Amino acid sequence: MKPALLLCTDLDRTLMPNGEPPESPQARPLFRCLTERPDVTLAYVSGRHLGLLHEAIATYDLPVPDYAIGDVGTTLYAIKDGQWSASPEWSAEIAPDWAGLTHAELAEALEDFRELRLQEPAKQNTFKLSYYVPADIDVQGLRAAVSARLASLGVCASLIWSVDDLTGDGLFDILPERATKLHAIEFLARLLGVSPANMLFAGDSGNDLPVLASGIPSVLVHNARPDVRREALAQAESTGQNGHLYLAEGGMFGMNGNYAAGIMEGLAHFHPEFTDWLNEASKDL
Ligand SMILES: [Mg+2]
Repeated sequence: MKPALLLCTDLDRTLMPNGEPPESPQARPLFRCLTERPDVTLAYVSGRHLGLLHEAIATYDLPVPDYAIGDVGTTLYAIKDGQWSASPEWSAEIAPDWAGLTHAELAEALEDFRELRLQEPAKQNTFKLSYYVPADIDVQGLRAAVSARLASLGVCASLIWSVDDLTGDGLFDILPERATKLHAIEFLARLLGVSPANMLFAGDSGNDLPVLASGIPSVLVHNARPDVRREALAQAESTGQNGHLYLAEGGMFGMNGNYAAGIMEGLAHFHPEFTDWLNEASKDL
């Protein structure tokens, strides 16, 4: 059966209430009810690797999804009867960016960059090289040098720099250029034969922006930081997709618009065909 709704959501601080702002108590139960409908297909879209996806589901009692895009878009899992299997089709889609090289061969080609220290094996996969780097490093210089080396090998990569909020470590990810959240979601939609009109995406932060500013109906949850709100609006404006971006503001069924409440608000905004169902389901909570 073709789903009436393909619901794709980020996890940290979008569905998971692991930020400062409070969560409305009825928000996650309502979200769970929605995902129990047989015509709703649920996909999680996260930077988390497999182990951390399982941990998130257990810790926050989240519904087990039908699909999960993990490791910042480098893996796509289909989940059936509790079994998670990585999609070989998605690997094949992004593989050309590595120009036939393996993870080990790429790591070896970058071995002489003394400032790059490989992260733990759980944080690596075929299509993800993740390094620790000193937080005070000249990021531009490192980026340019690594880019040049990869280009000389015929590799098309995106280089993602961030700082771990908890430890202060500099983090440097090398990913296939095609392995983005947006491309993975579009790939999944094609696989399921779902058009944007039957989709909803929810996110809260920087790596969600390409999807928020795309033609996929998207909601930015209310707990998103003000700078993300501004940036999402600006990017949606520049791509001409502002009609496909909704900023949750709270007020629906007395909920505050944060996390799952924001997702439900986005559903009501873009998919009025769910209004009656929402009204009924919210009465039972
Ligand atoms: Mg997030």
